[in-house]
Amino acid sequence: MIKVVKFGGSSLADEKQFKKVKDIVNEEKERKFIVVSACGKANEDEHKVTDLLYLCAAHLHYGVSPDSLFSLIEDKYLKIRDALNIDLELEKEFAEIRRHFTKDVDTDYLVSRGEYLCAKLLARYLNADFIDAKDFICFIHNGEVDIELSKNKFLSLIRSDRKVVIPGFYGVMPNGSIKVMSRGGSDISGAILANIVDADIYENWTDVSGIYVADPRIIKNSLSCSRLTYRELRGMSYMGANVLHDDAIFPVKEKNIPINIRNTNRPADKGTIILNNCDELDKKDPPRIITGITGKQGYTIITLVKNHSSTSIGFLRDLLAIFEEYRISIESVPITVDTFSFIVQSKAVSNNLYEIINEIRKRFQPDDIRIDEDIALLAIVGRRMQALPGISGSLLSEFGRNAINIKVINQSADELSIVVGVANKDFEKAIHCIYDRFILEEASV
Ligand code: ASP
Repeated sequence: MIKVVKFGGSSLADEKQFKKVKDIVNEEKERKFIVVSACGKANEDEHKVTDLLYLCAAHLHYGVSPDSLFSLIEDKYLKIRDALNIDLELEKEFAEIRRHFTKDVDTDYLVSRGEYLCAKLLARYLNADFIDAKDFICFIHNGEVDIELSKNKFLSLIRSDRKVVIPGFYGVMPNGSIKVMSRGGSDISGAILANIVDADIYENWTDVSGIYVADPRIIKNSLSCSRLTYRELRGMSYMGANVLHDDAIFPVKEKNIPINIRNTNRPADKGTIILNNCDELDKKDPPRIITGITGKQGYTIITLVKNHSSTSIGFLRDLLAIFEEYRISIESVPITVDTFSFIVQSKAVSNNLYEIINEIRKRFQPDDIRIDEDIALLAIVGRRMQALPGISGSLLSEFGRNAINIKVINQSADELSIVVGVANKDFEKAIHCIYDRFILEEASV
């Protein structure tokens, strides 16, 4: 059995967290490949190392000295090293990084150093090997990772059955330069590694005991999900649940490797297991009807009415082309007779909403066009909703009972999720009423 384990920044925020990580890793010999983020915040007064590194890069680009910022990072890593008596000459590493302190510093190189230093420290602390992500996570020019090439390189680098620590968040471009992923990208590195080594499980250790049914900032003490499908997770994380990076699902899904979200501060908790297919386990232990209630605020709906357009072939494609020309991604397109609504993120159209409207008027001469702003979308996700009559009915009547006006409704034929648009001001109320009715009431039966 092979386990890839990834620890996020909060799991490596100080020497106490390093000790917890050591206990977790040493508890099982199967926890062989360890991927790390940069150190996170140990308390509210601190800053994440990656944030500080981005600031250092910005200072350098503007010709301002980043010394005081960078020494915060040096102090943090030195403190961990000294508290744990780790035999590592960090001073040499810092000097090498400082050599790059020029106006044209490579930002990706600089910000990747948070993960690099953290992995070096942890490898020494665990008496494990260190393998640099720049030596095997290979990007191609379009920004995707070449998994085959990365696999071949990685397999040629592992020496024995010693544990290996790898910095997350970055890889190498074909020209040898370092490239970082999007924020939170160490989750993706862990998933890529799980794919490469054909792991039996990808454990993602963080500071919560799994994926919550609803955002705990809105629902205090929200219950968590013990089991999810990749598709449910994708639906939830796309719509705001952000325990795991969105793109971390694809490399493991391809090989059907389960993801287990675990809590470094409560290692006995089982966390959430994410699988391609939960059918077998569901038979023995049926899940809740609704797995997750997520959502986001800040959407705009552009609605166009034009008589007879529903029967005009290519009309929708021509409309969509306008959004494509403006490089605007569309969240959803609810359609009724001769009426087309386009739901987009408000920030995506903040600079050119009226230009787009004019363009639509010019090209299509609509009978009516309207804009609804300050919209929130709620995604109610659940694999058990499939073929279960009455769920959408009771969901919608719950909105009615609580005097929440529904602007749009969208459900695809796989019945995995129902997306409902409401006014931003009703967003939290809507989450509360669905949670109380479908999660709490079910839990109390
Ligand atoms: N350190 C990076 C960030 O803060 C990547 C990660 O933690 O996954 O976004």
